[in-house]
Amino acid sequence: MDNNIKREIILENYQNPKNKGLLNDDSYLKTNMNNESCIDELNLEVKIEDDIIKDIRFDGEACAICISSASIMTTTLIGKTVKEAETILENFLNMLDEKPYDKEILEEAIVYDDIYKNPNRKKCALLSWWGIEKILNQLKANEK
Ligand code: ZN
Repeated sequence: MDNNIKREIILENYQNPKNKGLLNDDSYLKTNMNNESCIDELNLEVKIEDDIIKDIRFDGEACAICISSASIMTTTLIGKTVKEAETILENFLNMLDEKPYDKEILEEAIVYDDIYKNPNRKKCALLSWWGIEKILNQLKANEK
């Protein structure tokens, strides 16, 4: 993807983030994430029904990379099954760790494909995705 297009997508998702603002609804699973190497603090809410991610909401104080990545994470994962979300998550984490990954399934999240070059920003891009991973892991632990 062209660098200007990448920048545009990141800026657009920072200035007009999607799914920002919490609902405080009891049917949502919740988690809080902090990034000590930046100002980032995010609250995440996820609604899973019939094994499908019906909704994701987030809010918090965070930098441009963190907010834009959270926004893109929500639009990428809403509507996916838990299994599809886990596969996307795995590929996103691989991309940021410079491991082989599937470009096709990452949708707009591909805009962070060279963020590994800037280690300080890596955690910013990862924070919301780690939050979803945490919630999905909790969900699995509860099912056992
Ligand atoms: Zn940050």
